[in-house]
Amino acid sequence: MADRWLVRALKGGTNTKIITLNGKNITKMPSALEKLPGLKTLDLQNNQISKVCPEISTLTQLIVLNLGNNHLEEVPEEMKYLTSLRKLHLFKNRISRFASGTCDGLQNLILLNLNNNRLSCLPQEVGRLKSLIYLSINNNQLTSIPAELGHLTDLSDLQLNYNQLICIPEEIKFLKKLQKLFLARNNIEALPEGICDLKKLRILDIAGNIIQTFPPGFKDLQLKEFYCEGNPLLVQKPIIAVPQEEIWSLQEITSRFIMNELAENNSFIMQTIELYPEAKNIISQGKKCSICGKFFFTIWLECVQFVPPSKKWKISRNLDLVPLQILLCSYQCFNRRGPNLFGIAQV
Ligand SMILES: [Zn+2]
Repeated sequence: MADRWLVRALKGGTNTKIITLNGKNITKMPSALEKLPGLKTLDLQNNQISKVCPEISTLTQLIVLNLGNNHLEEVPEEMKYLTSLRKLHLFKNRISRFASGTCDGLQNLILLNLNNNRLSCLPQEVGRLKSLIYLSINNNQLTSIPAELGHLTDLSDLQLNYNQLICIPEEIKFLKKLQKLFLARNNIEALPEGICDLKKLRILDIAGNIIQTFPPGFKDLQLKEFYCEGNPLLVQKPIIAVPQEEIWSLQEITSRFIMNELAENNSFIMQTIELYPEAKNIISQGKKCSICGKFFFTIWLECVQFVPPSKKWKISRNLDLVPLQILLCSYQCFNRRGPNLFGIAQV
């Protein structure tokens, strides 16, 4: 039947550039497609296709493929032959996996729409889709995002609403062109510090997560729209921190010493550390105290500072003050804090 539709669509001759077979109850893709190597656009949305036919691999000039609202269960392997493809719509299928090698040929893909599917994870290979500008995976079951997503340096619009994400990889900081980030209705506890490096970010939606505070550099983002309702954001109220005796491990003492000497440009330590890559790696994970500016490793005091949001931000609700996470090196520094800094009670 599909071939009959195709023949009808082909009235224009085999030079046809666009074929639209939208909502024709097609269950099997027409194999006659192989007679149309010059095809640019193929619209097969709203059918009942569960498998892509092998002949599709001959469509090496295809630019737009719409297989939305069908019965596919995976991102088909044949996609790798579609080397000219720029837009791929696979929304509203039953997709739970990527066939192996799928991403290899899609070097020109700028748009990938996988909304309303059943993906619980993404393969690392998505990092090979180097030209992607729009990636949309709303309404799936994603529990994590591979760090390789950070390789998609042209990405401008990333949509991950309605999934089960608990965190976002720090590598998001490499997405320097990202302008829109949608993370609404997930289970995210904290945003990575790397998000503060996204200088182009203008729209951020984190509504309906479990975020309490934001990373310190968050206030410097040049947002235009910020949606944060439905999060248990900390509100300003003083909490009395009970000073405890601080007992540091040998590792803490040593790392603090080394990190602070390095910060002072101690040339002996600087030369020596080069001989110990493992130690160098550990030290690279050190953090800086917001009061005294000294470094620490694993022991700190978590505080919150409330700052007014930028006047330029359009905010979804009356968010008077943005709670920023601040880490301090010791109770000594905690006792020197300013009036806007509060301890967070440990539960
Ligand atoms: Zn300090």
